[in-house]
Amino acid sequence: QAAAAEVQMFSVPSYACQRRTTLENHNAVLTDALSLLAENAELSDQEGRGVAFRRAAAVLKALPGPVTGLTQLRGLPCLGEHSLRVIKDILENGASDEVESTRQSEHFKALKVLTGIFGVGPKTAERWIREGIHSLIQLRESGHTLNRAQQAGLLHYDDLNRPVTRAEADAITEVVVRAVVAVAPGAEVTLTGGFRRGKLTGHDVDFLITHPEEGREEGLMSKVVSWLRSQGFLLYEKTTRNSYLESTEGPARPASNMDRFERCLTIFKLDEDQRPGSEETKLWRAVRVDLVVSPISQFAFALLGWTGSKLFERELRRWAGHEKAMSLSSHALYDNNQSRYHRATSEEEIFAHLGLEFVPPSERNA
Ligand code: ATP
Ligand code: MN
Ligand code: MN
Repeated sequence: QAAAAEVQMFSVPSYACQRRTTLENHNAVLTDALSLLAENAELSDQEGRGVAFRRAAAVLKALPGPVTGLTQLRGLPCLGEHSLRVIKDILENGASDEVESTRQSEHFKALKVLTGIFGVGPKTAERWIREGIHSLIQLRESGHTLNRAQQAGLLHYDDLNRPVTRAEADAITEVVVRAVVAVAPGAEVTLTGGFRRGKLTGHDVDFLITHPEEGREEGLMSKVVSWLRSQGFLLYEKTTRNSYLESTEGPARPASNMDRFERCLTIFKLDEDQRPGSEETKLWRAVRVDLVVSPISQFAFALLGWTGSKLFERELRRWAGHEKAMSLSSHALYDNNQSRYHRATSEEEIFAHLGLEFVPPSERNA
C-alpha cells in the first residue's frame, strides 16, 4: 500500500489540443517505438491504426516525467490494448519484438527509402515494391518514367533527407522576405510549421504569406516565385492555385487537412558555408520549402492550420466537430448549431471560439 502511494500517477485530458506538449519529451524511447508503428501503418494504407498509435504517443509526450510502470498509466486516454502491449514490452524487456521486427523488415525499409523520394507517396512505393524495386539503384535501373517532382526528388535525395537546421531555416527566411519585399512591399511573411513550434530541425521550411489589405495578396505567389526563379534560388517548383471559392464542397472539410490556398511546393538552392578542411566541392544544398498565400481575412485560420503538429491539427478538428458541432479548416470556423461562421483575426480568438485554453505554438508539439 505504502509503495503504491509513492508511484506517480499521471492524468491528461483526452484531446491533444487540450494539452500543452513541449519538445521536452520524458518518454522518447516509448514514443519513438509507437511513432515507428504509426509510420508503418500510414505507409501501409492503415490510417486508422496510424492515428491510434500517434494519439498514444502524443499522450506519453505530454507526461511530466518518465513512465516506469504500467500502473502509472491507468485511466489515461488513447492508450489502446495494442499500444499498452508495446509499452509493457519495452518497460519489461527494454524493447518490443513487434517494433524491432518492423524496423528490420525489408518491406518497411523499402517503403522508407522510396517514400523518402520527394513526389513519391505510399501507393507508388507499394507498386514499385511489388515489382521488386527496393532501392534507389533498382528504381533507376527499372526504367520507370518519373514525373518532374520525382526526378527532382531522386536528384536531390541525400540533401532532402538531411534535416534542415534552424540556421538554414533562418537563411531561407531572409531570402523569402527579400523576394516578398521586392515584389509586394507591405506583404508579410510568417514562418510556420515545425520551426514556429520551436523545433531545432525540420524536413522542410514552411511559410505563410499575406497582405494587410484584403485582395492585395492576389497574384502574389507568381510574382514571388518569378523573383526567386530569376535570382537562381529554385531547383524545383510547382504552384497549385487557390481553389477555395470555386469549390462546391463547402469551406470547411473537417475530415481532411488539405486546404485550398494557393501554394507552391519548392526545392530551394541554399548556399552553404564550406566546412573548414572539407573536401566537399558542392557549395550549396537543396532544401524543401513550402509557400502558402492567404488572404488576410483567413490568415488566423491559415496560421493555426499550418503551424501543426499534424496530430494537434487533427485533434483540433476532432474537438471542433465532436465537442462543439463546429467545422474547423485552415480557411474558416463554421458553427453548425448557429449556422454561421466565426470570424477571427488571431489564433487566440479561434481557441476562444472553440472553448479551448490558448496553446502557444511551442506547446503544440503533440
Ligand atoms: P517538419 O519539421 O517535418 O516539416 P512540420 O510540422 O513542419 O514538420 P509539415 O509537413 O511541413 O510538418 O506540415 C506543417 C503543417 O502544415 C502541418 O500542420 C500540416 O497539417 C500542414 N499541412 C501540410 N500539408 C498540408 C496540406 N496539403 N494542406 C493543408 N495543410 C497542410
Ligand atoms: Mn515543415
Ligand atoms: Mn511543409
